[in-house]
Amino acid sequence: MSHSNGRVRYTVDADGNELWFELPDNITLRCPGDFFVACMLLEAMVSDRNIRVAPDIGISSELSASLFELQPVYCLWNTKLKETKILADNISSIGAVHCGGVSTYSGGIDSSYTLARHLNDISHVVTLNTFEGREQPAEYQALIRRHSQVLAQLNVTLISITSNYRELTERLRISHQFQHGIILGALSLLLGFEKTFIPSGFNATLLYPWGSHPLTDPLWSGNGRNVIHDGPITRVAKTKYLAANPMLLNNIQVCWKHVIGNCGQCHKCLRTMGALHFFGMQSEALPALKDLNLLLTYDVKSEQSVPFVEELALLALNTGHEHIAKKLFRKIDRFWLTFHLQETIKALTGDTLRKAILKFRGQDWSTYRVRVDDKHPS
Ligand SMILES: [Zn+2]
Repeated sequence: MSHSNGRVRYTVDADGNELWFELPDNITLRCPGDFFVACMLLEAMVSDRNIRVAPDIGISSELSASLFELQPVYCLWNTKLKETKILADNISSIGAVHCGGVSTYSGGIDSSYTLARHLNDISHVVTLNTFEGREQPAEYQALIRRHSQVLAQLNVTLISITSNYRELTERLRISHQFQHGIILGALSLLLGFEKTFIPSGFNATLLYPWGSHPLTDPLWSGNGRNVIHDGPITRVAKTKYLAANPMLLNNIQVCWKHVIGNCGQCHKCLRTMGALHFFGMQSEALPALKDLNLLLTYDVKSEQSVPFVEELALLALNTGHEHIAKKLFRKIDRFWLTFHLQETIKALTGDTLRKAILKFRGQDWSTYRVRVDDKHPS
């Protein structure tokens, strides 16, 4: 453990790698050891090894209880994984150490909605540099300052946590799509609030294996701590909800291109601008949508992006913009046609051709050792 500039850094040796996280030194922690074990869980599961925790590192029995429930689900999601045991000498039962609630917060629509909806319960929010901004630290720090100032006006304290776990898991070829859910759940064990809200990224009509999931997130609860997968509704409905909280609405940060500020041109900015336009809302964080046809520049490239285009298309339809809706639905149809064609090729060629195509196109995720949905032996 080391202190510097009001922050404390916890460091361990994880299988020969330096693994650390850092946060303000005035935050009482429930159990740092639990967080480190969670960082290494998937590596242990994929390499079929137990996790041996050094005697000077304490972990909680609640971690073991959660992993006992979570691992069978993870093994179903990815058949390469094996259940692992946590071997530790220093185990104790630890309850919540903070009253009230904490949520993650990036300024995106999901986390803004959760904060707005549970403002009476949430006293603290957490930002993690391992989601956005880890490659642009100066811009990220500016974003943290902006968020802190806005949230202070709502009596919410921001806890900025930085870590190098993602560098390690990327090096180990573990997909962040899987790992992120484990990290969000582990925050509850690390910080020990009575309630930990995990803002849902998807609506409840489309559930598939994904790191943060309404089935698995609550399994991180225990001994006076509740972990809540919050708000599995459409993102456009969340956008509408933010009309009641202009402070959070004017602080939204949704851009794919910029860590701080929104470009107003990327697909995620345009999607959000489209929803605001259809609802007749405005956010100081984004320019108004001048030309509706800009919404049609959106390419549906993955299953995960389908629900967001679909809900925008429905909103367009319900607000009298049939021509836009029709074109957006057509994009979704075209995506599914290509998707099923690729699945057919995969079935016919044993996945070899598809992998070769993805590699050729440089789609990095296809090369991960641990993916969130992997049911076939390699
Ligand atoms: Zn943008």
